[in-house]
Amino acid sequence: MKSKKIDPQRQIVFTSTKANSSIRHRLFFFVFILILCFLVIAIPLILSSYKQYQQSNDALIEIKLLKALSEGANHISKERAFANKLMSSPPEQIDQRRAQLLDYRAQVNQSLNTTIQLLRSNDNKEIADYLITKAQPNLNLARLSVDRYAQTQPEQKSFQQYDRAVKQMFNAWDYYREALKMKIINSNQQDDELFRNMILILLVSDLRDQSGRVASNIIASISYQQQIPEENRARSLQTQYQALYLWKMIDTLQTQYPRTAKYNYLYHQVKIQFLDQGIGLVSGLIQESDRKQPYSLTATQLTEHLVKKFSAIIELQSYLVKETLDEATKQQAEAKQKFITTVILSLLSLLVSVLTLHYIERYILSPLIQAREEVLHLFDPQTPLRQKPKSKRVHGEFVELFDAIARLRDVLVEKDKLELKLRKIAHTDTLSGVANRKALNAYLEERVAPYSNLCLIMLDIDSFKRINDQYGHIVGDDVIQAVASELIAFESKFDLVVRYGGDEFLLLIEQITQQDALDVAEMIRAQIEAISVEQQIDVSVSIGVAVGAENWLALFKKADSALLQSKAKGKNRVEAALS
Ligand code: GH3
Ligand code: MG
Repeated sequence: MKSKKIDPQRQIVFTSTKANSSIRHRLFFFVFILILCFLVIAIPLILSSYKQYQQSNDALIEIKLLKALSEGANHISKERAFANKLMSSPPEQIDQRRAQLLDYRAQVNQSLNTTIQLLRSNDNKEIADYLITKAQPNLNLARLSVDRYAQTQPEQKSFQQYDRAVKQMFNAWDYYREALKMKIINSNQQDDELFRNMILILLVSDLRDQSGRVASNIIASISYQQQIPEENRARSLQTQYQALYLWKMIDTLQTQYPRTAKYNYLYHQVKIQFLDQGIGLVSGLIQESDRKQPYSLTATQLTEHLVKKFSAIIELQSYLVKETLDEATKQQAEAKQKFITTVILSLLSLLVSVLTLHYIERYILSPLIQAREEVLHLFDPQTPLRQKPKSKRVHGEFVELFDAIARLRDVLVEKDKLELKLRKIAHTDTLSGVANRKALNAYLEERVAPYSNLCLIMLDIDSFKRINDQYGHIVGDDVIQAVASELIAFESKFDLVVRYGGDEFLLLIEQITQQDALDVAEMIRAQIEAISVEQQIDVSVSIGVAVGAENWLALFKKADSALLQSKAKGKNRVEAALS
């Protein structure tokens, strides 16, 4: 069959390919939606944990800056002690005390510069600029005042000049303290505990300074061995009350939870050393002044005694700073851990989703599509069949599925073979072995090509009746078989060889010219003429050739009349139909 109705099959092929890609697209679409939902949940989580990590980082930097600033404030407070010692020293000790003061100032300057650099490198330019333009110039002014007093001839020195230098040192600290305040106000601290600790650090700095002022306010009078003026007395008392107030404030702000044994110890140390003993010392001196008694301590002794008493305050501050730093470091580490965990878990979930998709695609969907194609292929062999999935990709129930399909294929192949066999039997002429009229009818029913190019060669054994009569029907049958054998030998030249009935055969050739058809017919005729059945019976055939007609009946008639022509013209010849 050279031409057939293939359109319905093509439609099946198309539908099958389209269906496969549609199944895949749907899977990818749903997984895409799934991943999208996952991203909608994961991205805000990652961003929020990253923000928390950033905040904890910022908090740590804030505490470090505050630590540097509070240490600077303490340095400036302490510088006052060195300045007081220089200003109240007898002439023979001046050089030694000046050297000590200059040495300490160098340390203060270095610490200040480091703090300024730290502020600048951590985006706190405003505070750094403030320290440079306000705090430092004021500190320098106070230092100038101290130096001038120290350089003044003993007889020209005055109580007022001394007290002014002391007040200017207070002023320098007040300016510096503004930077601490700015740091806390500018702080974007979200954590309540850290913020409270920052305020505590500021208050302890205040306490440290006010404590120093308790003595500094009366130091000039002690140095001059004169009665304490009312103003200085009032200032000293005021700073005492402020120190007491700050001390209580610190304790109020320190909540129950962080009140460790160390805190309680330091808190009581401040009370014993400074509030009881330190302030007690100053109160004693004020009472001596009130009673116009000579002072029991010199100015230098007072300074040295009190500086020792401040160590508890400094220790308390260091403790608070350390606790705050530890807490901020802990929070930063936790936030970092949380951020990393969130990112890892998110990536892991994404990976699991993608791997699941890959698994479904490779181990479930592909075998299913393959099974679908194989089933479709069984139904219609024209459906393209891709390479069968490798055995390692086929697991569990899919092995059984493919086995079942393979068994089904074997059954269908067997059935097809049987069908073919039966069909061949039904369509074959039992005597001659060529196609019968039933096969011819089936062929004509299936062909869709026009009849204009079909060639029909009609062939009839000459004087067959005589052979039958002369040699019997069995020999007649042998003659029919011998002619059929010749035709079968040339089968490749024909599209169909039919025993039409009795001693008549039809040969069908698609797409052939009349001349070629006549040549083929002549060759057959000559070949049959050469046959000799039973070594004595000569066989010949007459042939009518027709190429092209409107329909089968017309073509048949044309070939038939050509055959009649051949018989009429003396048999054993080929005649072409008149067009
Ligand atoms: P012509 O040359 O004009 O064809 O003369 P013919 O004798 O061959 O006449 P025709 O073709 O009409 O005769 C066909 C004969 O073939 C008639 C019939 O008895 C005989 N025949 C038909 N079928 C068979 C068969 O299967 N076996 C045998 N042995 N003879 C058959
Ligand atoms: Mg005949």
